Amino acid sequence: MLEGKVAVVTGASRGIGKAIACKLASMGATVIINYNGSKDKAEEVKAEIEGMGGTCIAVACDVSDEDSVKACVAEVEKAFGRIDILVNNAGINIINEFSEFSTEDWDKVVNINLRGQFIMSREVCKLMKKQNYGKIINTASVGGYAGGASQIAYYASKGGVVNFTRALASELAPYHVTVNAIGPGVFDTEMTHDSLDGDFAKYLEGRVPLGRWGKDGELDGALIYFASDASSYCTGQTLYVDGGMVCVL
Ligand code: NAP
Repeated sequence: MLEGKVAVVTGASRGIGKAIACKLASMGATVIINYNGSKDKAEEVKAEIEGMGGTCIAVACDVSDEDSVKACVAEVEKAFGRIDILVNNAGINIINEFSEFSTEDWDKVVNINLRGQFIMSREVCKLMKKQNYGKIINTASVGGYAGGASQIAYYASKGGVVNFTRALASELAPYHVTVNAIGPGVFDTEMTHDSLDGDFAKYLEGRVPLGRWGKDGELDGALIYFASDASSYCTGQTLYVDGGMVCVL
């Protein structure tokens, strides 16, 4: 389905990004596995994709750093000449109560989760505009729909991602570049693992209409839709894949 397409996935060394990179490769895309610090893990993802017959490279880049992003995009352009699909997935979270939340921590989270999507999209869209084709998929979150205690920068950044997606969609539409976002509910990754135990987690899980957290593979449907031409008339949307979490009061 994605044969001949070149896809960049940021934060693909583990978790949701790894799953996205593997899925895109299984659909025939050439995949660029971006990572920041986890070189060994990125190499493992590369080996896994190559093991199933896919083509990929791993490229280090801090998405919040302009020079780093420019170098990454230049490397991909040199290697493959085009980028058809960009998945802005890299993200972090810092948990602390609001009155103690430092400006440095705010900057760190917002710079990676939101500024990173801005810089990466801006550099990649230069190629997509020339191609007159592209699919940008941003990883948002249920935290882009509603807020909660002790994760102020995360919720603010993800709310930003949802509206960034709408604004960029309208700007890039004339170039046949669609821009959509996936809003995951809770999935078990390094980011969330430690908070999936305990009374509050049980209470929250009980409030998911489908009654459980997300499982491996359950973001695939949204990914396939947004990455392929099945979504050729869909842009600016955030699809929440959350067991119904954002539907309930
Ligand atoms: P994760 O397991 O902690 O993985 C985060 C990924 O982001 C890693 O590959 C990490 O790579 C990369 N990353 C962090 N800072 C980076 C930077 N400055 N530049 C480039 N890459 C960077 O988290 P996850 O749960 O898979 O989350 C992935 C995305 O899904 C995030 O945007 C997150 O907000 C979103 N999300 C997750 C959930 C969930 O329940 N898990 C729910 C909603 C939304 P290195 O280790 O190499 O730095």
